[in-house]
Amino acid sequence: MSGFDTDLFVIGGGSGGVRAARIAAGYGARVMIAEEYRLGGTCVIRGCVPKKLYVYASRFHDDFADAAGYGWTLPEKPVFDWSRLVAAKEAEISRLSGLYRQTLDKAGVQIVETRAEVTGPNEVKLVSSDRQVRARYILVAPGASPTYETRIPGLEYAISSNELFDLKQFPSRLLIVGGGYIAVEFASVFARLGAQVHLALRADNVLRGFDGDMRNGVRDALGHAGVKFHFGDLPARIEKVSGGLRVEMTAGEALLVDEVMVATGRLPHTRGLGLETAGVAMDKVGAVKVDGYSRTNVPSIYAVGDVTNRLNLTPVAIREGHAFADTVFGGKDIRVDHSNVATAVFTTPELGTVGLSEEQAREKFDIVDIYSAGFRPMKATLSGSPERTLMKIVVDGASDRVLGVHILGHEAGEMAQLLGIAVKMGATKADFDATMAVHPTAAEELVTMRTRSARHEKAR
Ligand code: NDP
Repeated sequence: MSGFDTDLFVIGGGSGGVRAARIAAGYGARVMIAEEYRLGGTCVIRGCVPKKLYVYASRFHDDFADAAGYGWTLPEKPVFDWSRLVAAKEAEISRLSGLYRQTLDKAGVQIVETRAEVTGPNEVKLVSSDRQVRARYILVAPGASPTYETRIPGLEYAISSNELFDLKQFPSRLLIVGGGYIAVEFASVFARLGAQVHLALRADNVLRGFDGDMRNGVRDALGHAGVKFHFGDLPARIEKVSGGLRVEMTAGEALLVDEVMVATGRLPHTRGLGLETAGVAMDKVGAVKVDGYSRTNVPSIYAVGDVTNRLNLTPVAIREGHAFADTVFGGKDIRVDHSNVATAVFTTPELGTVGLSEEQAREKFDIVDIYSAGFRPMKATLSGSPERTLMKIVVDGASDRVLGVHILGHEAGEMAQLLGIAVKMGATKADFDATMAVHPTAAEELVTMRTRSARHEKAR
């Protein structure tokens, strides 16, 4: 016998950990997985899945408003019941969490419902029972948790997106702090569900790092939905008062709200995990340092997902977990390619994107051609909605290769998924042009944009 209790011990039952456990077990490895909360991790329990369900809920607001233009008469004011939505969401994530358990059981993975901590290069302690487990390999996949580095008086009254999902009372007045994925998605959702939403961010626009025109488009769409922006303005003090929370802003205004939700990024969940004991190297924010195979500096310890702070997206964690299992237990040699990963921001309308933004392309390439379109989506013609669809194709002017595609519009996330294939394959603008349109769709614009909007050449 090997002298190990298990071949693989996975810490964290989220997207990356569960995939790695299942695939490793499929190769015949003895696998244990520890989860201290609920199987499914951030994505299933308090991230992508419940968020998308709430996005669907919020979009009925627009559908009701649009319906009149198409001949429908609805009750004056459709009524939304927050507690029914929360309960329906809870039932669905419980079902999904149960499916994760079934999948692991079927694969022969042993689930231990406890916090686990690393006590050595091949040793893990199960905190609930104090039992030590000797593992040939340890996979660290505990994810990340919300953080706010700015300490202000009354911060203890603020919540994160984790809590917002399950509030007992609907927050009719909501202050959201941050301008990233979570902040804009929740602003879009809660404004549509009927809340007065304030969005406070330190920058002068939302979604740093995304294409500039798309950022402006998201900002304008949130404005149309009634979100009130506080650019370069953050909470300075939060006080509990009768009737809610009084928030003094750095610019001097005082807001009275029901909840303050902070969405200012997430930090790797490594504190207290014992990684230092085993000599695992971490960076200054506590992210586990790994190579292209997700291997740490300790040969028996690997890490995948948000805890490594590479590209903090569910499908990336899943791919990393799968590649780890294939390589370590399946005799394959698989590195994860983190380039050209398509992603979506589920505001309404959505932002779907793959590849380089115009700004990034202009930094990296000598000649950058831009093809763009801005139009009223067909559905808005009869409904009278002010919504605009934006599309942009970023092309390397020297090779004609498409470097990036950015869409703000209905189902842009779905479009980004398919565009991801084309961009990953190295499609050129000529390939896009050679593709026949599907009519009438919004996406047909992507293959019919013939006229260049701009060419940017680097000064030599
Ligand atoms: P993001 O990193 O996307 O955004 C963080 C925001 O907080 C930025 O606007 C940033 O401002 C701001 N910020 C950071 N620190 C401070 C501070 N001290 N004071 C004030 N503002 C601050 O983080 P999120 O929390 O929105 O999301 C976490 C991760 O979850 C994302 O990186 C993403 O990978 C993932 N996610 C993905 C989703 C999807 O795929 N649809 C949905 C939700 C989350 P600035 O711009 O100035 O730096």
